[in-house]
Amino acid sequence: MTIAIYPGTFDPITKGHLDIATRAAKIFEKLIIGVYDIPNKRLLFTTEERVELVRQAIVDLPNVEVEAFIGLTVDFAAKVGAKTVVRGLRATADFEREFEMAMLNKRLSPELELICLMAKLEYQFLSSSLLKEAASLGGNVDDLVPQHVAEALRKKIRSKR
Ligand code: ADP
Repeated sequence: MTIAIYPGTFDPITKGHLDIATRAAKIFEKLIIGVYDIPNKRLLFTTEERVELVRQAIVDLPNVEVEAFIGLTVDFAAKVGAKTVVRGLRATADFEREFEMAMLNKRLSPELELICLMAKLEYQFLSSSLLKEAASLGGNVDDLVPQHVAEALRKKIRSKR
């Protein structure tokens, strides 16, 4: 079976992430979305909440799963038997960082391949961080995230006030 992982912070999952997962799910027999469990990074949602938001977003994608992971992406890939890492690439924001990470991962695990899917035009400028900033300032971000994520964002921001 061809298994790929799609690792990221997903704080929270956006329609840009979901588009990449949907397209990758057509290429691989199984896609596992890996949610970084990073205790020392300041995030809006807890790891459990981020995993749950992803889980609800992928209910219509039967060959896509979600799992939290700690540590190196290459180790997570080995653990779940994935030979490929999928990442999304936005026009200017992502290239250098992805390139650096790809080089490092290649050193750590030469057999592991990276596939970058180009972000859809309408989501090129969508990032979780900008989304959170806009939402926290009262902006309506409903068309950029699945409905349950929009609701979770509103609730979380209200609870932080
Ligand atoms: P990370 O902290 O690993 O960058 P993110 O959750 O921000 O985690 O992103 C996970 C992956 O999804 C990365 O490959 C990122 O480039 C990609 N991504 C982020 N936003 C979008 C978007 N709007 N469209 C397509 N891919 C995206």
